[in-house]
Amino acid sequence: MEKHIYIKELHEILIGREQRQALRLKLSESGNSSVSLNLNIPGFPKNTNYYLAFFEVVYLELKNWLTANQYLIQEEFRLENEAGVFLLFEICGSEIDAHKLKLTTEIFEENHILARFIDVDVCDNRANLISSGKLKKCFYCGEFSAIDCMKNQRHSIEILRDFQLSKISNYLQQKQKVELSHKISALALRSVLYEICLTPKPGLVDFNGSGIHKDMDFNLFMDSTSVISGYFESLFSRGYEFSGEDFSLALPQIRFIGLQMEKAMFLKTKGVNSQKGIIFLMGISLFCVGFSYKKNEKYIEIDFINSIKSICKNLVKNEFKVNTRENKTHGEKCFEKYGIAGVRQEAEEGLPTIFQYSLPLLKNENNLDQISLTKTLLILMAKLYDTNILYRSNMSILLDLQSLSANTLHNFSKQNYRKLLDFCLENKLSPGGAADLLSITIFLYLLENEDNDLPDLT
Ligand SMILES: [Zn+2]
Repeated sequence: MEKHIYIKELHEILIGREQRQALRLKLSESGNSSVSLNLNIPGFPKNTNYYLAFFEVVYLELKNWLTANQYLIQEEFRLENEAGVFLLFEICGSEIDAHKLKLTTEIFEENHILARFIDVDVCDNRANLISSGKLKKCFYCGEFSAIDCMKNQRHSIEILRDFQLSKISNYLQQKQKVELSHKISALALRSVLYEICLTPKPGLVDFNGSGIHKDMDFNLFMDSTSVISGYFESLFSRGYEFSGEDFSLALPQIRFIGLQMEKAMFLKTKGVNSQKGIIFLMGISLFCVGFSYKKNEKYIEIDFINSIKSICKNLVKNEFKVNTRENKTHGEKCFEKYGIAGVRQEAEEGLPTIFQYSLPLLKNENNLDQISLTKTLLILMAKLYDTNILYRSNMSILLDLQSLSANTLHNFSKQNYRKLLDFCLENKLSPGGAADLLSITIFLYLLENEDNDLPDLT
């Protein structure tokens, strides 16, 4: 086995050890205990980018864990050279029981999936190392103690480092995915909430009332949003993990989660369909955003559009062909009568009404206030062939509503908007499709306008 520890590196280790001990002694003078962190890395160098990235992640995890256990960190010291990074937390308080502190750090290590790569040491207020009395297992074979495998040079440095780097790389990727899915699903939830809270809205449920809907109110939307949003992270994750090789495999995955969301929604609303449309649109959107992040490490509009088109290819033809039963949905009946397929058509074509009209308008407004969002809803109502309108009326009413919406947008005033609200109430119209596209517009606006870059862990 090759000798990897050269004189210079040995020197670094020794210097490192001396510095570490000197630091611990210094802390003990003020009567404080310490917790130190370093990584258990075979060979040199120990400060490559991957190791440093992993160190930073574990450092924050350990710091949170100590804080969660109500230990007060007085100060942090960091030593870094080719022998690796060493970090020391000075724990405030001369009355600290160092053995209890050691138990706390042991729980941290036991719960860490890569515990064998991590060394957490505790020193009491006299700079004495508190030992757990347990010998750490070798992280590679898991059969012997780490010291035993090292002494007997059981595994080559290359094998150990390759093994370690692949585990660390997986860990960091997983961590990135989890952080991103928290972040992106929060944006999706915000978008849905902004749409529901927009008041007043024509014919739709809003904060002030139920519009034309007798079976729904504002609280019902809060309730169903709460239950469906619990699935947002899974949708993002599925997209993030999707290989992109065969897009026909994507829709069943999205539907699989979508059906669970519908079930949860109907259970919560006691059978009222409050958000089937948004479940479909947000489901596909979250999946495609996840896919874009995995592919490009960020959200890229053209990739998003192309993946939606690929996933929803022939959607209208396939969905309406399959269903020959008697109790057809609103959308199916409209398609039969007018050849218009509402949001399904939108999805199949890559959400053109959003990308050509509503998103540019919202970007231009660059605001999520009630006026900007109302204008965004108006442009959607002016452009979309909304099957929610068609189902309750006819083509001539839809065309009237489209032109009234366009006029209201171009001559925007409270008075003109009021006329539109009255028109919808009189004709019992509720532009649910436009409202769903408004949520997606807000979601895409937030994606582009807030810092949603991949957390840089490497
Ligand atoms: Zn071993």
